[in-house]
Amino acid sequence: MKIQLLGTAGGDFRRVDDPEDKFGYLPRVRELGGKNLRCPAQAMIFPDILIDFYNGDQIDKFDIAPESIKHLLITHNHWDHLQPLRILEFAAALPHPLQIYGSHNVIEAIKFANTYDFDRSSGRFIIRKKQTDVEYYKLEPAQSYEIGGTTVDPVHGNHCMDKSDNMIMQDVCLNYVFERDGKTIFYGMDSSYTLPLTFEYLRKFRIDVAVMDMTFGRWPIDVDKSGHHNLDMLIETIEEFREAGIFHEETTILVSHISLAFVEPHDDLKDELSKMGIILAYDGQEIEV
Ligand SMILES: [Zn+2]
Ligand SMILES: [Zn+2]
Repeated sequence: MKIQLLGTAGGDFRRVDDPEDKFGYLPRVRELGGKNLRCPAQAMIFPDILIDFYNGDQIDKFDIAPESIKHLLITHNHWDHLQPLRILEFAAALPHPLQIYGSHNVIEAIKFANTYDFDRSSGRFIIRKKQTDVEYYKLEPAQSYEIGGTTVDPVHGNHCMDKSDNMIMQDVCLNYVFERDGKTIFYGMDSSYTLPLTFEYLRKFRIDVAVMDMTFGRWPIDVDKSGHHNLDMLIETIEEFREAGIFHEETTILVSHISLAFVEPHDDLKDELSKMGIILAYDGQEIEV
């Protein structure tokens, strides 16, 4: 099984040209270029599964044949992972109906965008003239699905949460476990500390490759306000997964969904993480398992 990380950025990737840079990382990111530049988080599980869709730029950049993409899995309804109009545009150019998978909210959002246009002059939604031929599948966490030749188990990620005061879950963010030919890949984006029932469900897997959320690197975050890990939190999660046998000796651990403004550029951080057994991902990185 092979995964390619087409994009590895957190939601602040558009700040790369921001002159108001708090930490001073952005000028260095611009200067270094290459692996230090990041586009929105997106990944390909070969041969036919794409995860998340901000736009199709990275699909072109890394020479993925669009017609090879049969299944689109969406993690959650944040704009850097889900752009319904761009998905429909991409699907309309395919020779087959794109099969789209996600939470109830994600599927309803894409259906809505396929049903209505917003008419700015009247301020009303109007029925779209032409709908794109796609197929929708609502996923539930902690269940197994056969998607193409791959077994896919979505699990509930700790994200899209308005936490302590309001306790409102805004979407069932889905992290995904992929299994094929006896190998297992975990795509844990976006997520903060693992939810207890997700942790219990994950115990049945021995993950070979894990792509984990390390959005804030060494920045001390307020866990109440954030649906992500920083490095210290991630280390706790990795320990928990190791103790439970979810990660084993040989598990390859990559970190992605990296903030450009809060985290050192790739070239400056990768060696330090590598000493901890963590690989700092970059756009285009391929991992075969
Ligand atoms: Zn995100
Ligand atoms: Zn998000």
